[in-house]
Amino acid sequence: MTKYETVIGLEIHIQLKTKSKMFCRCDNFSVKAEPNTNICPVCLGMPGTLPKANKKAIEWLYLLGIALNGKIRDGFQFERKNYYYPDLPKAYQITSSTDKPVDGGFLELEIDRETRKVELDHIHLEEDAGKLVHGGDDYSLVDLNRAGTPLIELVTKPDIRSPKEAKTFVQRLRAIVRYLGISYANMEEGNLRCDANISLRKAGGKLGEKVEIKNLNSFKMLERALEYEEKRQSEILELNKKIIQETRGWDDAKGKTLPQRLKEETQDYRYFPEPDLPPILVGKTEKNGEFLIGEIKNKLPELPAEKEKRFEKEYGLSRADAKILTAEIEIARFFEQTVGAIEETDKSAEEMRRYAKKAANWILTELFYKMKEKDEDITKIKIIPFHLASLIDLIESGQISGKIAKEIFNEMYETGKEPENIIKEKGLEQITGLEELEKIIKEVISNNPKSVEDYKKGKEAALGYLVGQVMKETKGKANPQAVNEILKQKLV
Ligand SMILES: [Zn+2]
Repeated sequence: MTKYETVIGLEIHIQLKTKSKMFCRCDNFSVKAEPNTNICPVCLGMPGTLPKANKKAIEWLYLLGIALNGKIRDGFQFERKNYYYPDLPKAYQITSSTDKPVDGGFLELEIDRETRKVELDHIHLEEDAGKLVHGGDDYSLVDLNRAGTPLIELVTKPDIRSPKEAKTFVQRLRAIVRYLGISYANMEEGNLRCDANISLRKAGGKLGEKVEIKNLNSFKMLERALEYEEKRQSEILELNKKIIQETRGWDDAKGKTLPQRLKEETQDYRYFPEPDLPPILVGKTEKNGEFLIGEIKNKLPELPAEKEKRFEKEYGLSRADAKILTAEIEIARFFEQTVGAIEETDKSAEEMRRYAKKAANWILTELFYKMKEKDEDITKIKIIPFHLASLIDLIESGQISGKIAKEIFNEMYETGKEPENIIKEKGLEQITGLEELEKIIKEVISNNPKSVEDYKKGKEAALGYLVGQVMKETKGKANPQAVNEILKQKLV
């Protein structure tokens, strides 16, 4: 890929998790509902019904616009996009794609330690259509539960330069959307949907014919499909042939894109202002707008980039650790709740930072390892932050060794039990009785004369070996520091 430059643009649909649909009061959660039960005359598009815009959805559109550095326009008018399809009984979709509510904007990405700024074209709000359920070769069924669900559409400029960058963009966008709490933004479940345009051009030359790819239901599919298409197009160009402008679908099983339809003349949707909805006005005071941009700005939560900086500063974490811990809101929450639970036990600022680092380590190593092993999401796990904090406290106060802690942690992960109970159940209390410990140490010394001699000659490694022997004898229930100290005293 040296000869050609890859040009990618994305169109992303984000299904909002508002309580009700975009223009009626139907329940917006119909994943598990029987087909055609979450419907009413408005979202069915019956003649004579009147839509009413969902204020929350509009507010969330602006919230995302602000988070992505877009220019919030003074207002916009919903409009009708006219087309016929069996999942759209009213034969038009209410959108705002030409009278864009949010212009421009950008999202900064970090790729291979370099910062890339991807420019956005615009962000708008619209309603979703219903769904066709294909029953077999000869029939399809219509389910209108989804009809009227609020969708934010975000269109980037053709500003993305590689499949990896495209994937990183969508991942980062998903993180922001989840931080804002406006959508579940799950690609596999279809509440974050992505179409990609890709073309190749000679470095710095004019844009080539573009191909649109659909059916991208995961980050992996998005990246693989774009990689495949990049290669396919460059091979065609190498043969001095032309790329056909078309829509292709990704076939994940075959690992290739397949032609779906040719891009003919741009369809004329005959957009016109939606006569049943008043214009949406945005202003600085209630006099000039229903939506007050200052108020919405105040609702903006801390976003990943800011949280990352705060974690570095407040908890003394490394940049790399802070980045991973803030990449997903749920991980960041788990970490902060763990630290918060430790905080309650009245620690100095310095101790707090030390504990925070320990919490970060447990999450980034043991917890991540377990989640990966079990293929589990942090929202689904049984272990709770408060219990992880207790575990760290038990290690810090010398009540359990690091080795035992790992055993307890595994049990906590499997059962969700609190560490103190696991210790009692499994008899994992540290041997704190000095007498018992000294007895074991004595035995170890008399059974290992060679190591004792080596240590006395100055071989520090021999001491490590002896500590190991004591730990083995106590089945890891001794405090290694204490063992170390006692051994040194006895071997003088
Ligand atoms: Zn409805």
